[in-house]
Formats: sequence, structure tokens, C-alpha cells
Amino acid sequence: MYRTAVVPVRLEGADRRRAFEVTHRAGLLYTALIAQNNEFYAANGRAPSQGEALGSVTDPDVLRMHAHTKIGVYTRLMENIGTALSNMSGDKVEGARLPWRAKQYMPVTFTAGYGWRITPAGRLSLSLGRADGRLLLPVPSVVDARTGQPVPCDAWGEIELCWDRDNRRWALHISYPTEWAVPVLDPAIVVGVDEGIINPMTLAVKTDDGYAVTVINGRAARAVKHRRNTSVAKVVRAKSRCRKGSRRWKKLDRAERRAKGKATTALRNIDHQVTRKAAKFVQAAGAGTITVGDVRGIEKNTRHTERKRAGRHQRRRLSQWSRGRQERYLGEKTSVALTHVDESYSSRTCPACLTRNHPTGRNYQCRACGFTCHRDAVGAINILNRATYGSYTRIDPTTRVRVTYLRATPLPQHSEAALSTAQMRATTATTGRVSQESEVPYPDQAAA
Ligand SMILES: [Zn+2]
Repeated sequence: MYRTAVVPVRLEGADRRRAFEVTHRAGLLYTALIAQNNEFYAANGRAPSQGEALGSVTDPDVLRMHAHTKIGVYTRLMENIGTALSNMSGDKVEGARLPWRAKQYMPVTFTAGYGWRITPAGRLSLSLGRADGRLLLPVPSVVDARTGQPVPCDAWGEIELCWDRDNRRWALHISYPTEWAVPVLDPAIVVGVDEGIINPMTLAVKTDDGYAVTVINGRAARAVKHRRNTSVAKVVRAKSRCRKGSRRWKKLDRAERRAKGKATTALRNIDHQVTRKAAKFVQAAGAGTITVGDVRGIEKNTRHTERKRAGRHQRRRLSQWSRGRQERYLGEKTSVALTHVDESYSSRTCPACLTRNHPTGRNYQCRACGFTCHRDAVGAINILNRATYGSYTRIDPTTRVRVTYLRATPLPQHSEAALSTAQMRATTATTGRVSQESEVPYPDQAAA
């Protein structure tokens, strides 16, 4: 299995122009191959081979690129044709047809050892073919999204040079293998996960003397979303006041894409940080079972439940909540398949006496027995108990609950180089370690 790391690169002056030229030529070659493929198929009743396809293109300017890059364009067309054929026959996707659209630009591929290599001076060289020389770039750092470990250059496979339309910058898509030593995890050890909007993941596991709970705060995501929502709304309003396609409209359209692209990158990064911390918790506990409180479909239920219909802002928060992606990342980072249990009343039921309370704020206090705890910790402990025993189960009110707070930090602005490494960046000194530890009952100060 291969994964792909996306690394932004800065290209300037002549390099930038040459990158546009080679991706433009790749688009032209692709377009030429489409036409040639259709003719060939009509005449011979089969698809052309690589040699036949590339040999039929006569315009020398279109062919001005590395031989492996040309093969990459041919391979891409064949893959697209294969997908189109299966959509047209088996899956019967409506509107499916063979590739036909002329491409102005197309990402170009560089194979390991031929298309790209590391120079003796320690630079990344992307070969553009005999006539055009090469692009020389600083060697980017690639971090395995699953382990958080840097991936050495020797392990890299194909590199793609792509224009990121949303962020309006160049990026390298670097593929690398995923094989690595999987830590030994015991399926009998269960981690319960409570998901939420303010604290995206709260994890609980049983210890010898009680429970260990880690609350991962994702407040940074809220700020990113808020910033995006307000700036996009502003641009959309301005756009609605100008003629579609006008210069001003185009300028605003670019600004909208840029704002969205930036937010997308920042949010993905926050999800990686959250799940990296969660994966560390799971691995430190040696847990081979991860059970998540099932909140799927909660958006739909906000309209008609015993609770009041959620307000406009709460509904927007719910619809922009990326828990699906966070669950996927956590599964990928731990190699453990996540299971779900019903989480109804998990954050309301008192773990000590099973009375249902209506907690306000981030604190949980039982009005029947006086048990107090962090609200999300209550949820995670209840989910853990339901996963272990099949139902919410009383815990001894004197049980020790150790709560650790961790925080996902936002990316620094204008720091493209930091993007690839930020996910393994430690959080600030005070939040990267246990910042509060207490026994039940304890006052909750850090959650505010
Ligand atoms: Zn109670």
C-alpha cells in the first residue's frame, strides 16, 4: 500500500514558468492521445499500446518532456478509460463516457531514480527532459501521517508536480509505502471515545487503580471555521453585487477559493493533531479495541428530538463537524478498526449512581450523589463501560480518575514549510503534558 504526502513548494521566476509549461504540454499530450485513441480504436477494435499511442503524436513541442513523464500521461489516460468503461458497463453511472475533454494542464509525474533524484549537493532534482533541464528544489520533509515519523527519501516512490488551484500554489504529491512495524495491541483492552465539538475526542481506559482520561481540545478548529465562514460570506456578498465573470468577480472568486483552501488545510492539520494525540493514548494503553459513542446522524436528529430544535449556529457547527474524518485518521494511525456503541445519555448518566442529570457547561455534577467530573470524561467512561459490560455500569464513587488535557494548536500563518511537519509538532509546554491531575471529585478549571 502506498500513501501520498502533499507538500507545497515555492517555485519562482523561470522555474515557475517552466512548471507551467511542462504541465501545459502534458495537458496537450493528453488531449492528443484522447483523439488518437479514439481513431485507433475505431480502426483496430482495440486500445493502442504505449508505443503505438506515443509514436503517433508528431508535434515535437508536445512531446518535449521526460520519457517517463510521457509514459505517465499515457498511463493516466488508460486508467481514466478503464474507470469510464467500468462506470459505463458495471456500475452504470449516469452520464459516464470515455475521456473527451481537452486538458489545458495536467499534473506531471516523476518516477524514482529516473524522473526525480537527490543530487550530491542534497537537492531534489525533477527532470523535465533533455531540452529543458531540471527543476532543483530543497528536499521537502515527508511525515508518515500514520506514525508521525519522517519518511526518508529512499522510500519515496513517484512524485507528482501539481498546481493547487484552490490555494494557487505548486505542490508535490509524494507517494511512500505504508509498511511499518505495527505495535502489539491487546483487543481485550478497550478505549472508550466520546466525540464532541469543543473537545473532538475524549478517551478513557481502565487502569489498575481507576480510569485514565485524556480530553483533547480542538478549540482552534472553531476559530478556523468561524474565520472561514465570515470571510467567505463577505466575499460571496460582494460577488453577488458584480456581474458574473467580470474582472472583479474573478478576483473575488479567487479570494473565496483561497480562503476555503487555507481553512481546509488548517482543519485537516487539526484533525491530524487530534488523532495523533488520540493514537498515542491508544498505543500507550496497548488497547486493541476502540469503541466510539455512535453519534452518526446527529445532524438529522437536531430537528425533532425531545430536546429543542438546535439553533441556527448549533446546526451549522454540527454540519461542519469532521468526526468521520477524525475516526478514519484514528483508525489509520492505530491500525485498529473502530467500533460503535449507542451513546444516548452517555454524557448525562452519572457513572457512580446512574442518575440522569442535565449538566450545564463543561462540568458534571450529580444532584443525587454529588459525584463531579469533567462532562466529557463522564461521557467517555460511560461509553467505555457500555462497550465493556453491554450497559452503563456503576463505578465506585471513590475511583481515581486521572484527567489529562491536550490541545491541538493552529498552524502559524504563512508558514508553508511547516505544513508537512506541523502534525508532529509538540503542543506548548504546558499543554503537552499532564496539566491537571486529580481524584474524584475534583474542581474543573482547565476546561473553560
Ligand atoms: Zn450520581
